[in-house]
Amino acid sequence: MCGIVGYIGSQDVAPVLLNGLEKLEYRGYDSAGISALENGEITTIKSKGKISDLRKKVKFEYEGHAEIGIGHTRWATHGKPSDVNSHPHMSYDGKFSVVHNGIIENFVTLKQDLKNEGISFASDTDTEVVAHLLAKYYNGDMKQTILKVLSKIEGAYSLGILCADKPEEIWAVRNASPLIIGLGADENFLASDITAVLKYTKNIYQLNDGEFACLKKNSVQVFNPAGEPIEKEVVAITWNVEAAEKGGYEHFMLKEIMEEPEAIRKTVSPRLGENNEIILDDFTLTKEKLESFKKIYILACGSAWHVGMVGKYVIEELTRIPVECDLASEFRYRNPVVDENTLAIVISQSGETADTLAALREAKSRGARVLSIVNVVGSTIANESDDVIYTWAGPEIAVATTKAYSTQLTIIYLFALYAAKLMDKIAPEEYDAIIAAIQKLPEQIEQILQMKDEIKALASRYAFLEHAYFIGRNLDYAVALEASLKLKEISYIHSEAYAAGELKHGTISLIEDDTFVCALCCCERLYDKTMNSIKEVAARGAETLAVLTDNSPNPGEECDFKLVIPSTHELVMPSLEVIPMQLLGYYIALARRCDIDKPRNLAKSVTVE
Ligand code: GLU
Repeated sequence: MCGIVGYIGSQDVAPVLLNGLEKLEYRGYDSAGISALENGEITTIKSKGKISDLRKKVKFEYEGHAEIGIGHTRWATHGKPSDVNSHPHMSYDGKFSVVHNGIIENFVTLKQDLKNEGISFASDTDTEVVAHLLAKYYNGDMKQTILKVLSKIEGAYSLGILCADKPEEIWAVRNASPLIIGLGADENFLASDITAVLKYTKNIYQLNDGEFACLKKNSVQVFNPAGEPIEKEVVAITWNVEAAEKGGYEHFMLKEIMEEPEAIRKTVSPRLGENNEIILDDFTLTKEKLESFKKIYILACGSAWHVGMVGKYVIEELTRIPVECDLASEFRYRNPVVDENTLAIVISQSGETADTLAALREAKSRGARVLSIVNVVGSTIANESDDVIYTWAGPEIAVATTKAYSTQLTIIYLFALYAAKLMDKIAPEEYDAIIAAIQKLPEQIEQILQMKDEIKALASRYAFLEHAYFIGRNLDYAVALEASLKLKEISYIHSEAYAAGELKHGTISLIEDDTFVCALCCCERLYDKTMNSIKEVAARGAETLAVLTDNSPNPGEECDFKLVIPSTHELVMPSLEVIPMQLLGYYIALARRCDIDKPRNLAKSVTVE
């Protein structure tokens, strides 16, 4: 999820690796390290914290002049940020050094097997199994060894590998996590992100999933998943560093929206075992404990609170435990009814949100059990919780959240299903149907992302809006809250979300000619009700946009405009309907030339009260 660099050539490797790592800093990371190979020995230097800390350490501890090496910026998924957990990781015999992005999904079993064979582990990472497996299967032939190891590991990963016996080779593997090879004159580079090599070369090979490669000083050989050599096309990069950081997109926000299918896949797939069993790490809630809860509080702020609103509907529906979704910034100042029969679910991308942390402490001090859903491993909220489920969304740079929101939603579904199954509250067919729907989300989101030009064209109509209203019922209302926030935070248009049935109790007086009302109508059983609300506002002159599914009971002719998206199981529909709303907010803000990635007055992680 974070950064890989590699170099082989005639330059001193340490500065090249450190420069490359600095170019990856913009992605966010928690630790960094390098390995250099010289005179048949691998020297590894790594540290928690900034590249500048690593630079100092390298200056004091490394006197060599190796011309081959690999480096890494880590964004922890397994094991807290620390010196030992930083990459590169060494094999037990000191022969292999490995850097890794992503997750080795079956590492628990592999680790246990290796431990049973007497191999001891230095770190808590999933990565270390790869280093030990390489040493275990090494037979002098790197290609065969790598193929063997790849047949053992599962997951989404990219790898950079050094072997002390092979001082003229770096090996690279890509599987569902980006990796490129930079082609130089008498030197070659490896990187997870083009920005790391742009200073040295603009010619690259783009590895595809399953491909792996051997980099030498004067040649690069790429292999297909079967190990057969293949010819790759050289791609000449025309982007500058700034464009490359954004993967060629105009803004990080759009890049991150486009990454949502992959982020959801990475969040869900390691959690699904055989027979659709859900596997939750750092999670010890038993059937008895779950059954003891009389109430669940979801505590969060901003978009995470909107995830909580979805959570309220989904968890109540599946577990039949009453759920209250509370703003953390309010909860902390009231006298909540909380005791040891309460479960507090705390949601925060950064895991450092001050109000959410305070609410967590408040709940805990009153005896609640705390389960947190966070993106940053080792964050304060994660540390202070009894159980943690990480979203593994990877670093998010745009201030307005998109992929972190979406992965939080999927964790909510997984938790609700897990709890419902453990408590015997869900029929097996229903459980399987929802899991199937979750697994299909990435593919369906990809379909919706293809509607981006249609949404962009629509957005140009709304560039000069002063007010916007988003309405919906039930889960549609929960998404309306997020749609409205997305629009207002990046476009500065005044926007409000209303439960559709509430309109007539007040807000409808604001509707006049051309007032923009977006109705979320994806909850098929409530379709007619929300259509009535659309008719009410249309009769008073509103311009209406409806978000419907391809399974809607009727085509929504009453609306001025509509966006039709694929349908799915009702409980996971929010994951699909939020996507056009993120795109709509983005394109309206773009048309208004707003500073989309850094909206005024906002910070990514709100660490003050
Ligand atoms: N899963 C690995 C770890 O936690 C790699 C994380 C990354 O992609 O930076 O160390």
